This record gives sequence, C-alpha cells and structure tokens, in this order.
Amino acid sequence: MDLGIKGKRALVCASSKGLGLGCARSLAEAGVDLVMNARGRDALEASAAAIRSEFGVNVVTVAADITSEEGRARVLEAAKDVDILVTNAGGPPPGLWSDWEREDFIAALDANMLTPIALMKALLPGMMDRGWGRVVNITSQSVKAPIAVLGLSNSARAGLTGYVAGTARQVAGSGVTINNLLPGIHATDRAVALDTGVTQAQGISMEDAKAQRCEGIPAGRYGTADEFGAACAFLCSQHAGFIVGQNLLLDGGGVNATL
Ligand code: NAP
Repeated sequence: MDLGIKGKRALVCASSKGLGLGCARSLAEAGVDLVMNARGRDALEASAAAIRSEFGVNVVTVAADITSEEGRARVLEAAKDVDILVTNAGGPPPGLWSDWEREDFIAALDANMLTPIALMKALLPGMMDRGWGRVVNITSQSVKAPIAVLGLSNSARAGLTGYVAGTARQVAGSGVTINNLLPGIHATDRAVALDTGVTQAQGISMEDAKAQRCEGIPAGRYGTADEFGAACAFLCSQHAGFIVGQNLLLDGGGVNATL
C-alpha cells in the first residue's frame, strides 16, 4: 500500500534501537526523511547509516537526551518544521509501590509525560499552519491494564493519555492527528531488561521467564519492532486522517478486554 507520505519529514525520538527504530525504518520505507535521536552516538549513527543506504532517504541525527530541556532544544533545532512526530523515550525502572519517592515520580513524569507534551507544544503549531500533521506517542499497554511493578510507567503514561485525549480533538480540525500506540511485550533491549528482572526476582532462567510471559499472550510470542513500526507508519499515513485520539494496543491479545 502506498502510504502517501513520500517526501514528508519526521522526527522519531529515541530511535537508535527497539520500537523507535522500527518506526523510523517503516517511515523511511514510505519515503519519509528523518530526524533521528538517541543519547548514544554510535548506535544512532549506525542505525541512521543503515536506513540511508537501505531506503535512500535523508536522515539527520541528533545525539541528545530527549528528556532534558537542553537535549530537546537541540533536537527541535534540527526538526522545527517536521510533518510527523513520533515521541518515545526509555521507560521508567520497575519496583514496588513503597519504594518510589517524589523525585522518582518527577523523573518518570518528565520522561514519559512532560517530554512528549513539550514536543507536541513545539511542533503542533507548524503542522496546524501547514494544514497537515501526524503525531504518534509510544506509550504502553500499562495504560489499559496496569503492570504492578511498573507503577511509575502506569502513572506517567496515564497522564499523557489524558492530555492527548483532549488535545487531539482540539487540533484535528487543522488536519493534524494525534494517536497513541500501546506496546505489549516486544523483543527489544527493554524486554531483555524486564525479563532479567524476572529471572532475578524469581530465580528462574531467561528461557523460563520468557515462556512464563508468553503464557499470558494469546499470540504466544513477543511482538517485533518491524510490526510495531508498520502500525506507526500507517497511523502517520494519508489513510489515517480520520483516526483521532485513539489508543491502539499492539500486544498479541495480552490485555483481556472487550474494548
Ligand atoms: P529499547 O529497546 O531499550 O530502546 C530504547 C531506545 O530509546 C534506544 O534507542 C535508546 O538509545 C533510546 N533512548 C532511551 N532513553 C532516551 C532518552 N532519554 N533520550 C533519547 N533517546 C533515548 O526500548 P523499547 O523496547 O524500544 O521501548 C521504547 C518505549 O516503549 C519505552 O518507553 C518502553 O518503556 C516502552 N515499552 C516497551 C515495551 C517492550 O516490550 N519493548 C512494552 C511496553 C512499553 P540510548 O540509550 O542510546 O539513548
């Protein structure tokens, strides 16, 4: 399917690896020029070079912490006039409700709620002036069904979801859509970190930790970054202009809910 976005420009945050990279690759495959970002320069440059050579699109890289004001300013300098924004950052660490102090919540809110909000605030006006834009926020299945050990994520992402629900409806009339993608477990470094936590907490092997997790996923496997990226590219396509303020689960059926 022609996504109809060849020649558009996208900022994909936190995109040297994992789900962000999946989104960057699928947008590049659709002919979209990219601004890619991550903190570590080596992996970022390697991923950008691979995308340039595979898809022939322009890729600008900005090595910066997207959750810091200074990092965001540098990223936005390179991405002021983008048509597409994909927000993403690392997820908060797991833990127990009784461990978390105010500063832990502030850090989670900064990374997973206030950073995407700041990026939208900076980039939505240009999209609205031009009469076309797409925003996809990478959140988590924890928005629909809490993951107890990820209480910091549950809290911060719920805040972002509430913001998007209202804002998406305020900007839709200008041809700009905002939607959220909610990953369940996907085979990325983040999944390795979470599974390592399970091996330590339960004294089981990595293989057993994965098998245990798969028992709760009707699809019986982890998702892939490619599948995730394809869904992102569709939400950013010309065909998705009537999809507004939605929260799309990509979880292999893991969240057991009718709606
Ligand atoms: P990942 O494989 O660990 O990749 C994270 C990417 O983000 C890397 O490119 C990393 O590069 C970059 N990054 C992390 N923090 C950053 C920051 N502060 N500024 C700029 N770049 C940053 O993680 P993932 O699995 O793709 O997860 C992406 C998001 O989805 C996370 O928020 C995660 O919590 C959420 N999620 C993932 C899953 C899953 O199963 N994978 C499930 C639910 C939710 P650098 O480290 O070099 O910066």
